[in-house]
Amino acid sequence: MKRTFLLIVLSLFMISLTACASRKAGGAAADDQERSRREFFAMDTYMTFTAYGEGTEQALQEAEEEIYRLESEWSVTEEDSEIYRVNHSGGEPVTLSDDTAQIVRFALDMAEETGGALDPTIYPVVAAWGFTTDENRIPRQEELGALLENVGYEKVELAGNQIRLPEGMELDMGAVGKGYAGDLAAELLKEDGITSALLDIGGNIQAVGSRPDGSGWRIGLRSPFGEGQIGVLEVSDRAVVTSGNYERYFIGEDGREYGHIIDPDTGYPVGNEIDSVTIIAEEGKTADALSTSMFVKGLSGAEEYWRAHQDFDMILITEDGQVYLTEGIESSFTLNSSFGNMELHVLEAVAEE
Ligand code: AMP
Ligand code: MG
Repeated sequence: MKRTFLLIVLSLFMISLTACASRKAGGAAADDQERSRREFFAMDTYMTFTAYGEGTEQALQEAEEEIYRLESEWSVTEEDSEIYRVNHSGGEPVTLSDDTAQIVRFALDMAEETGGALDPTIYPVVAAWGFTTDENRIPRQEELGALLENVGYEKVELAGNQIRLPEGMELDMGAVGKGYAGDLAAELLKEDGITSALLDIGGNIQAVGSRPDGSGWRIGLRSPFGEGQIGVLEVSDRAVVTSGNYERYFIGEDGREYGHIIDPDTGYPVGNEIDSVTIIAEEGKTADALSTSMFVKGLSGAEEYWRAHQDFDMILITEDGQVYLTEGIESSFTLNSSFGNMELHVLEAVAEE
């Protein structure tokens, strides 16, 4: 019902938008390039795709269709999706399409790489907390313990395109799917010769090239504390993905906040010192996988992981107003003056003794 209402509101919104979908960029743009824009609802979130240059309208339409196609393959709730089929296979092997086999392979690899902080089999626990239906509740410890028996990425058998998921387990690409879809959409645009586009996938950003005038895209970083943006990040050709409990949470009967990111070790929503994690990486899928898993790892775990890998940058915001950013993006980030009381810390690749 809620979703139907959202879709109606969105359709009305889109009708009013199509009128200005393709027009000359306004005076604020640094040059005179044509701009196309599409706004739509997919993968449970609002997406806005913007591209600059000639012939972008058709390419954006194709990118939007690609998102719908991937959504129909990866949805956990739609009965004809591939993931649904795997989740209801009763332990029998299922043959996947290339796209789905690749995202599942990626999610399993990242689960291993992050020591299980990311776990694409956590879905039954997420559902028990009511995050899949918005009918939130606090499950009992015994219930969580029983559900965790059926959680564990290492029990998934994937060989080539064939997968076997033990009965009782469920797969969900929720923590990586939007990033992965952003990569594939960006790839399509590049194949169409587009060199300047910004894909906003529910607040997660996939930047294709630079702005038409060659300068970086200026991405506002939403404050996890409420309204406003804590700062601006300037990037080209990068994905910028944020995870935080403030995006989806409920307040339990005990008055405590419970967020949608679950610690696979305990089955409880992550409740550490971090309010949000933003990952800046070349690929959206990596940024998405890491934003969720670094959130689970917490400040010191994320810092340690970053030092061991260093092929991405991150910005961590703690609940007591500290901002930690990795040295690679120090010069690309500007704190907004209204958040000037926040303390900035730069994480260096070589830990200080
Ligand atoms: P994201 O917004 O990318 O951080 O993904 C969060 C979503 O992934 C949640 O809404 C859950 O559906 C699912 N999820 C929660 N905890 C985990 C976890 N530890 N590993 C993988 N997926 C998770
Ligand atoms: Mg994620």
